[in-house]
Amino acid sequence: AMAADTNGGRPRRRHVLLFPLPYQGHINPMFRLAGVLHGRGFDITVFHTDFNAPDPARHPDYRFVPVAGVVSGPATVSIEDVVAHIVAIGGACEAAFRDRLAAVVEEYSRDAVACLVADAHLLQAFQVAARLAVPTLALRTGSAASFACFAAYPMLCEKGYLPVQGTDSQLETPVVELPPYRVRDLMHIGKNSHEVVRESMERAVAAVRVSSGLILNTCDALERRELAGLRRDLAVPVFDVGPLHKFSPVGDSSLLCQDRTCLDWLDQWPPASVLYVSFGSLACMSSQDLDETAWGIAGSGVPFLWVVRPGLVRGCEASQLLPEGFEAATRGRGMVVAWAPQQEVLRHRAVGGFWTHNGWNSTAESICEGVPMLCRPYFGDQMGNARYVESVWRVGLELTGELERGSVEAAIRRLMTDTDGAEMRARAGELKKAVAECTGKGGSSRVAIDKLVEHIMSLYK
Ligand code: UDP
Repeated sequence: AMAADTNGGRPRRRHVLLFPLPYQGHINPMFRLAGVLHGRGFDITVFHTDFNAPDPARHPDYRFVPVAGVVSGPATVSIEDVVAHIVAIGGACEAAFRDRLAAVVEEYSRDAVACLVADAHLLQAFQVAARLAVPTLALRTGSAASFACFAAYPMLCEKGYLPVQGTDSQLETPVVELPPYRVRDLMHIGKNSHEVVRESMERAVAAVRVSSGLILNTCDALERRELAGLRRDLAVPVFDVGPLHKFSPVGDSSLLCQDRTCLDWLDQWPPASVLYVSFGSLACMSSQDLDETAWGIAGSGVPFLWVVRPGLVRGCEASQLLPEGFEAATRGRGMVVAWAPQQEVLRHRAVGGFWTHNGWNSTAESICEGVPMLCRPYFGDQMGNARYVESVWRVGLELTGELERGSVEAAIRRLMTDTDGAEMRARAGELKKAVAECTGKGGSSRVAIDKLVEHIMSLYK
């Protein structure tokens, strides 16, 4: 096929067009995928909204095509508003994307062929591409288990698991159709936002079904059973190519500037002694929760590196986020940064634990470095990820209930200094090795990337 695929004797350029959802946790895996495909000889074109636009200067090899229509983020970072925003993005830029895609395809058609990889949340992008006869692949940036949940959402409603009525006993009910989830591990949100969440999941599943394949940022060592389930239930091929950051350079798609001074600061600490604390790019807490977090960290006596993002507490200025006296109480033992080079931090030998909100990227990055987790999920798929960390891979513990300094302190000690935590760390080391086998030579993720490349080639007519 290679030899025949020429244009007047010249080999054709092969383009992959990418359209990420404009959120950090979606942009990172898409750019990591771009790195992988670029390494395989594909030309990369990235469509992007004005909101959270990537910096073209940091990717000189890629072409960037702005798509008008989305200039701002969600009204608030509540699950309702984030999901509503995600659902609205596809519609808001549909017309502009159609024009841009048509122009790009027309331009490339003289000497090249193209296929589109879009975030599964952008159903309209798949529909637009289909009308222009551009083949598509869907990237879903969460775990296989979470996508299985998306697909099972109608069943979960039918059986009465959702929407959640709010009683404690209902929250603890095991979802027998989707072990190991309990109701509280699902995207359990109030009745008011039930419809918009249902719609967003339905659209993501529809996007995958109309695509020519599903790309998942996970691997055999983490989700063999879940991947097998998806392969059984979906008519499209599934490519478990993750964790993608193992195949691509670090930190190049960060929207905020990463403070690298913390890497030097980490050098002074003994192995596995420092707690890294970060709640990702979206999670937001009350100032009371922030205070309890701060005093729990202080009280634990454990050295820490804490990412306090501007905006972590709604309506609070960056300089006023930390409680008075916190700095004095932890002087010499802690560092606070606005945004960290997370993968490098997790890889640093001094880091022995990660207090995380369990976004899928953070979870996978932690696993890859063998760092056990203190889990405090906020919303979306994070509860489900925390469930896997605690009860399937057993490389962390969940901090449940109200945030209160005493229980925060105890949980941090348990992870960082107790035998319990040491056991989790040992298992995390084993899991790291198992994942490294997937991403290493001849491993399942590498094989999946080979298959993906072959598949993309077969889509070019
Ligand atoms: N991240 C980072 N610096 C930080 C915190 C996070 O570079 O200080 C990166 C992290 O490595 C991950 C992404 O931001 O790739 C967050 O994605 P995730 O899915 O964990 O959470 P989200 O932000 O989507 O809630």
